[in-house]
Amino acid sequence: MDIKFEEAKTLKEKPTGALGFGKIYTDYMFIADYDADQGGWHDARIVPFGPIELSPASMVLHYAQETFEGLKAYRTKDGVIQLFRPEMNARRFMNSNERLSMPKVPEDMFIDAIKALVEVEKDWVPNEEGESLYIRPYMFATEASVGVHPATSYKFVIICSPVGAYYPEGVNPVKIWVEDEYVRATPGGTGFTKCGGNYAGSLKAQEKAEEQGYTQVLWLDGVHKKYVEEVGSMNAMFVFGNTIVTAPIDGTVLPGVTRDSIIHLLKDWGYTVEERHMPIDELMEGAKNGKLTEAFGTGTAAVISPIGELCFKGEKAVINDFKTGDLTQKLYDTLTGIQWGNVEDPFGWTQ
Ligand code: PMP
Repeated sequence: MDIKFEEAKTLKEKPTGALGFGKIYTDYMFIADYDADQGGWHDARIVPFGPIELSPASMVLHYAQETFEGLKAYRTKDGVIQLFRPEMNARRFMNSNERLSMPKVPEDMFIDAIKALVEVEKDWVPNEEGESLYIRPYMFATEASVGVHPATSYKFVIICSPVGAYYPEGVNPVKIWVEDEYVRATPGGTGFTKCGGNYAGSLKAQEKAEEQGYTQVLWLDGVHKKYVEEVGSMNAMFVFGNTIVTAPIDGTVLPGVTRDSIIHLLKDWGYTVEERHMPIDELMEGAKNGKLTEAFGTGTAAVISPIGELCFKGEKAVINDFKTGDLTQKLYDTLTGIQWGNVEDPFGWTQ
């Protein structure tokens, strides 16, 4: 892929102090256009970060053909910048696009575009403990048409945002609201994709949870509202001694890169991982009788987020005395160690 470069007239001041999440953007963005009548992808370019002009009839604004990804670039203590399993994001992006009847971005184009943009923006990869450069690739339908059909033109864009340490004061458990009214995904739907529509539909439950003093929602399956699926924008894992239970990847749950990495680590350490549909009653019972020793969410943003309390239909259960469990902490330390290059990477996950 030939990528053109347009230099910015002025560069922004680099931020000082706390970065937060997703508030600051770098100087440049990557864009490529897709037009069915021009043979597919063309005009790959890195240009100054700025507004994108769209027709008011652009199909994404009406029928939501939009997909995205999220990954990070990490600076090691030797100053090397590395990505963590970007091929997993490339493949998930293709699966999302396939489901939304959108053209695919080939794996090498996806990864080359990210590497080219991060190379240009390398000074934006922060170097304080726990900080990283969040990378957001996304794609949307630009064809001007209000007829319902798969669009024939799209833009693939990548923007970057330096982000702060998720846990400046150490890993801390959160309170989780088990949602029994709204659902996130159903079999045959789009639950396994990262499409914007999934997130729009989940906001109502998130608002409800926050009103009740909870941080995130634990989703139940969309048919029976009985089986545990995932938590907010994380996959969920439940530790019963030496056995870890998590929902299977069979269409309704997002196949998380962190989830897959944690499963590899757990199996490597001799734990049993059960990917199965666990009834919420079994989970609440385990939390109450102490068989559930730890619980946590997994995702790129926080890596691991311990679950300290569950509330289901007004019934509350505290897990591990609302403390971060030893296994949760060990997984967090190992995975972040690999990502920031402080721990050997036995799986060849970084590049
Ligand atoms: N589930 C949902 C719904 C998500 O949005 C995310 C974040 N991408 C995850 C799980 C975790 O995926 P990953 O580990 O790849 O960040």
